[in-house]
Amino acid sequence: MRALTLDTDGTLVRTTRPDPPLTRPDDVRVRVVQTGICGTDRGVLTGKFPAEAGVVMGHEAVGRVESTGPDSRFAPGDRVVINPTLYCSDCHQCAAARFQHCVNKAGTEVGLDRDGSFADYIVLPERFVHPLPEDMSWNRAVVVEPLACVLNNLDAASVVPGEAVTILGAGPIGLVTAMAALHLGSGVVLVETDPLRRELAGKILHDLPVSAPLTVTDPDGAVLAPRSRTVVDTVGSLLDTALELVDIAGTVVIMGFDDRSRVTVQPLDILRRGLRIVGAGDYNAPSFPRALALAEHLPLERVVTHRIPLDEYERALEVIGVTGHDYRGAKVVIVSDDEQ
Ligand SMILES: [Zn+2]
Ligand SMILES: [Zn+2]
Repeated sequence: MRALTLDTDGTLVRTTRPDPPLTRPDDVRVRVVQTGICGTDRGVLTGKFPAEAGVVMGHEAVGRVESTGPDSRFAPGDRVVINPTLYCSDCHQCAAARFQHCVNKAGTEVGLDRDGSFADYIVLPERFVHPLPEDMSWNRAVVVEPLACVLNNLDAASVVPGEAVTILGAGPIGLVTAMAALHLGSGVVLVETDPLRRELAGKILHDLPVSAPLTVTDPDGAVLAPRSRTVVDTVGSLLDTALELVDIAGTVVIMGFDDRSRVTVQPLDILRRGLRIVGAGDYNAPSFPRALALAEHLPLERVVTHRIPLDEYERALEVIGVTGHDYRGAKVVIVSDDEQ
């Protein structure tokens, strides 16, 4: 099969791999249709996040079941989305249903240290494969995994409907967080330094079927806005800004991945203002079915600005700013199969 793998020099290369075999009785082999490029993938390709050389990258995948082991309830042709963060079910974190903090994660992170979905096929145990509603388009379904991540992070912040959420960064995760928070009834202040990205965010988020107020602004405008009960840093390096913008007794959620970011905080300030700084991991298993249900109501496909065939992956690297200019699109998707 075709695959995009991480080379030893940290670049993405097109290779040919044997089709992955079914090894467990509950294994499901999925013919990949689309895979979103995640901020994590971009982080790996720009040296901000570690991954194993030689791995097939990609984890935000949707596709059709091609074959299964004897114990799977799926049938060939079923449309599915995958949960790419595998967990063991046996450790003390899994026993407490905190699957995203499973302590046995080595070799379980799809697209990072276990072969992913920038390929024609991927094989996973069936508990990491979710059926898609019949009427959900591939273009919407491919954003369900980021939405699952967003829901887990909004849960961790204990977002209260009606209370404002400030979101730092109008990349794909920032946009999906804004859609979800608006749907929950929270007013949203979306903060982005790049004027073109602000304009794009305005277009993507216009006219949503929600009544909560939305402000898209630059950091100066955010300072002037009332402080928010919740601030979500989707960039991963803006904790200091988030602490400036959060209200007394508020919560800062660190959601973006940046291995290099270091910030000095004043513990007494956190104590006096009664702040919470939380990290929630990516998604917990229960946030996947919820994301599937919520996706029926959110026009997630608007977040996807580029769909690029797998063989033209070099163009995708240019668009996301790994090899080209600054990244100014939103979600870029690798298309393994052009099924509509
Ligand atoms: Zn992702
Ligand atoms: Zn575990």
